[in-house]
Amino acid sequence: GTPVWQRELREQFPILTGHPDLVYLDSAATAQKPYAVLDAVQRYLTTSNANAGRGTYPWANRTTDLVERTRRRVREFLHDPEPERSAVHFTSGTTEGLRAVARDWLVPLLDDGDEILVPFHDHRANLDPWQEAQRLLAERGTGVRVRALPYQASSGDYDHRALTDAVGPRTRFVAATHVHHVYGGDMNVHRLRAAVGPDVPICLDAAQSVGHQPVRLDDPALDVDFVVFSGHKAMALPGTGAVWARNARGPAFRPTGWQGTPNTVGIVSLGAALDWLDAAGPDRIARWTTALTTRLTDRLRLLDAYEVLGCQTSLAADSALPHEQRRHGIVTFRHRDIPSDDLGFILFSHGFMVRADSLCQAGAGERDGSVRVSLHVYNTEEEIDRLSDVLTSLV
Ligand code: PMP
Repeated sequence: GTPVWQRELREQFPILTGHPDLVYLDSAATAQKPYAVLDAVQRYLTTSNANAGRGTYPWANRTTDLVERTRRRVREFLHDPEPERSAVHFTSGTTEGLRAVARDWLVPLLDDGDEILVPFHDHRANLDPWQEAQRLLAERGTGVRVRALPYQASSGDYDHRALTDAVGPRTRFVAATHVHHVYGGDMNVHRLRAAVGPDVPICLDAAQSVGHQPVRLDDPALDVDFVVFSGHKAMALPGTGAVWARNARGPAFRPTGWQGTPNTVGIVSLGAALDWLDAAGPDRIARWTTALTTRLTDRLRLLDAYEVLGCQTSLAADSALPHEQRRHGIVTFRHRDIPSDDLGFILFSHGFMVRADSLCQAGAGERDGSVRVSLHVYNTEEEIDRLSDVLTSLV
């Protein structure tokens, strides 16, 4: 049955309690917001809204304090072991964050003949900026090779064996993803670090992990140099995000282009969201969403009409796998006969809000449409069972 703590957390989302007939299953696109975030936004806008960093009166000083508080909270939330050596920069989301790392940090660093390894099968936002960097450098006469992080479609993970061959003496940088936005699997960053060695900077797209599971930089298994994430997927307002930079390998991260007014209200909402998530417990959130994901995947596997994409496509049920190897909050599938947009439409006629298209995956065309169900801590076993019943009825 549903534990009391989960029911109590769910009740903190007014959009969910206000729409009992609808089931939100698109949290990988954006997460719903708890009262704590809504209240923090309202409180800020009704008590101290002003511009940051130029204060000669209390509202402006308060705004500056709140922005700095969120910066501190990002470090704490990520368990930054060396906060005095890191930088936190606010962005509008993961897309802008990855662009900033490419444009302001990577481009000035690269020399003719250097190589970078980037994901060709993950989110587009984690491919375009690196290819753009290559173009920019080429215009200046600097030839940089962009190589694909070897990828294994059957497991939905990087091909850690082939990686050893892809890494060479000129490899200067790796861009990777923490949790895949289509397959929901953990991309095994520790094995990536082992393959590239201790000196190559790794930039991690953590859009699908921050807020969903522990992302702890004090864990030696997460030895990365950049963590880029979207605040709105972690229950803050849209148009928020952050880049955390370790500043240990290479020059300090000093992005340009944010000298104007920051998204103060978004940054305030991010601070409140991180407070809420820490109190809810990232570990508990992960165990809950992974259990629900397993519950859905095990039902889907029994139905020949559905193909579940990527990630442990073996016959073993997800529930037979250790917790760490299961999907985390994301299941993407196709029906053998029903086109994905039709399936999305049918599911909505039953109240289920899912994503049904090509999912912004790099290299995937229109024909690769699929349906993605993505969860957060507010989803329930009952919602998953109802969805499974509808999917079964469509066989
Ligand atoms: N990377 C991944 C893995 C994502 O899932 C997403 C959002 N779908 C993004 C990047 C882009 O995030 P945003 O739209 O907040 O910039």
